[in-house]
Amino acid sequence: MAAGARLDRMTAPAILRVALPVPLPRLFDYLPPPGVDAALVAVGARLRVPFGQREVCGLVVGHGQADPGVELRAALDAPDAAPLLRGELLASLRWLAGYLHAPLGEVLAAALPAALRRGEPLPDMARYGWALNEAGRTALPAMRPGRPRALAELLQVLRDEDWLDAAAPGWRTPLRALRERELVARLETTGTGSGSVPRGSEPAPVSSAAFAPNAEQQIAIDAIRRAAGFAPFLLDGVTGSGKTEVYLQAIADCLARGRQALVLVPEIGLTPQALARFRTRLGVPVHALHSGLNDSERAATWLAAASGQARVIVGTRSAVFVPLPEAGLIVVDEEHDGSYKQFDGLRYHARDFAIVRGRALAVPVVLGSATPSLETLHNAQSGRYALLRLRQRAGDARPPQVRVLDVRKRPLHAGLSEEALAAIRAALDGGGQVLVFRNRRGYAPVLLCHDCGWSAHCPRCSTPERPTAMTVHAHGKRLQCHHCGHRRPSPPACPDCASLGLQPQGNGTERIEAELQARFEAVPVIRIDRGSTGQRDALQKHFDALGSRPGILIGTQMLAKGHDLGNLVLVVVVGIDEGLFSADFRSGEKLAQLLIQVAGRAGRADRPGTVLLQTHHPEHPLLQTLVGGGYHAFADGELALREAAGFPPFAHLALLRAEAKRAELPLQFLQLAKTLLEGSGIDLHGPLPAPMPRRAGYVRSQLLLAAPARAALHVALEGAVPALYAAPEARRVRWSLDMDPLDLY
Ligand code: ADP
Ligand code: ZN
Ligand code: ZN
Repeated sequence: MAAGARLDRMTAPAILRVALPVPLPRLFDYLPPPGVDAALVAVGARLRVPFGQREVCGLVVGHGQADPGVELRAALDAPDAAPLLRGELLASLRWLAGYLHAPLGEVLAAALPAALRRGEPLPDMARYGWALNEAGRTALPAMRPGRPRALAELLQVLRDEDWLDAAAPGWRTPLRALRERELVARLETTGTGSGSVPRGSEPAPVSSAAFAPNAEQQIAIDAIRRAAGFAPFLLDGVTGSGKTEVYLQAIADCLARGRQALVLVPEIGLTPQALARFRTRLGVPVHALHSGLNDSERAATWLAAASGQARVIVGTRSAVFVPLPEAGLIVVDEEHDGSYKQFDGLRYHARDFAIVRGRALAVPVVLGSATPSLETLHNAQSGRYALLRLRQRAGDARPPQVRVLDVRKRPLHAGLSEEALAAIRAALDGGGQVLVFRNRRGYAPVLLCHDCGWSAHCPRCSTPERPTAMTVHAHGKRLQCHHCGHRRPSPPACPDCASLGLQPQGNGTERIEAELQARFEAVPVIRIDRGSTGQRDALQKHFDALGSRPGILIGTQMLAKGHDLGNLVLVVVVGIDEGLFSADFRSGEKLAQLLIQVAGRAGRADRPGTVLLQTHHPEHPLLQTLVGGGYHAFADGELALREAAGFPPFAHLALLRAEAKRAELPLQFLQLAKTLLEGSGIDLHGPLPAPMPRRAGYVRSQLLLAAPARAALHVALEGAVPALYAAPEARRVRWSLDMDPLDLY
């Protein structure tokens, strides 16, 4: 080695290469903070740095030597003694950044809980827990599990679990109440990592199921148990077939082997009910990660996973980013659910990333659904995923009877036919519960002037060619745009002709609620949608309040899953016809999944259920196929259509979106993108106005990229994306790249 080179390396200052959460596709070099040796700041540790006039927190991704003559700024602070992101997770995130063509700094930041992303010091990771003491155990039966709710829940956990992890989120306040009454004792745990069993309390044994797995469940459990290394499974089982039981057994196996399990569930599926089922059955603390936690709770849970202290993590989309140093199993429940895809910022798909992590971690990944996405079905059919099927409902439960109700020319009352109303009456008279499904919030979708034809449009989302109606809320008093949130009071008279004959047209959940309340005064009528059920616990409160009494639930797709209603005997589906004629290539798949999931709510226990599908298009092929042949008949037909049309999963798509207040700017930007991508051998469609051409005052356009092979798409984007970031046109628009878009909106 030349002496000069060695000298350079010794004299050139050591620098840190940092990924910053800024929308630029590059890394940044900094000198270490004053007085800190660069070599001691590990890859994967956070670094606070000056960036322009701001301070930002990034992650160290490499070390290097400063180039002579380049002046670098010094970092401000390196808060971590050990790396936060490392090993498999760091490698998988690097892969994800490449896949999404997103800046590494933005991807790494998205993987960290918000508190850590901001550069806050690590919370004190107390390794202790709480258990009921003698006095607590004696007092427990007499304690009223009434108010406050959190205290009642805490008592339940302590009773079921023996021990409460101090890092478990959400318990601080209720725990304080128990400590003040001296009903709990503090238990120290033994160190970190997998040995973190609290001293003086063995984990409760796995309580076995109240029933033996049936033959199909046993085959699935055995297949997952036998899997060595990475093994993707599709657990394709009708609603109520006992998929959760299969997960629980597989997780119990995983725990017995001393490994961690990660379970992803859709936002709406992560109910206290579901968590309680996991807790009681697994006999270990279950760490939940969802949007109801505050930042420090999320950070504590993430770190508990990183330390190996958390053995079972159940969480929504972003839980796919938890570190799993001792991973043994990943489960994705309801894998078809759209909530796994992030729709803004970093547009990742948690199910797809779960597969990537499963491969990197060499563990089985179980994707479960009654209505698998066509992508996943295709992967199973082509042999990439092992197919496990549960064809029947578990136990004695029978499948619901589905009937298509032709409502053409029939009188409708708030959208409900007299036949449906009679069926509701009969179900209630028999002591049963009824679910009325309508995927439209508000009172009515349109406010119309009966005299001149004026209707209320959103001023921020409409264009002359394509007006966007405002939804009527509050029994006609208020108008709201469901696209941009714009609200205003309903006008007292028509703005065009001053007529007082303004009429809400059509039916939303609010109006159906009013109609049913008037008709069925003797029973509770409960509306469940984003308007009535903002907070996450509100849903559970509604269900608790109803219990198993006869009553009616009205709701949007929030009702399609998550809660077991043992007494639900009738499901009425109202107004699905819009979905039958949507132009989006995935709309059929989404509607079929929704209908099957809603129908699956009926008759889950020992009572048979009935599903009535009201429609003006009883002969529509989607309904015919679904009712006659079930989801798989539909999916087979749909896959054939997609193949013929060259749509996913037989082609790969990316959607470049751009929006600005001035219409020509997005088009200029997309035209530049098109020029950069031309000649790369992929198909380019556009630039075109988006299906919704204006939203919240922004004019929206898009360029669709398609290729039969994924690799071609990536090669083309690798060439073009850096130039897009650098282009002056990019600074005048808001733009995003969506890999594998779920809709083309
Ligand atoms: P899924 O997750 O497929 O919708 P679940 O796992 O929730 O189904 O099971 C549906 C119901 O059937 C639950 O009440 C569950 O306790 C019950 N169950 C599951 N497996 C069996 C079995 N082998 N025998 C009897 N009942 C079962
Ligand atoms: Zn008018
Ligand atoms: Zn709007």
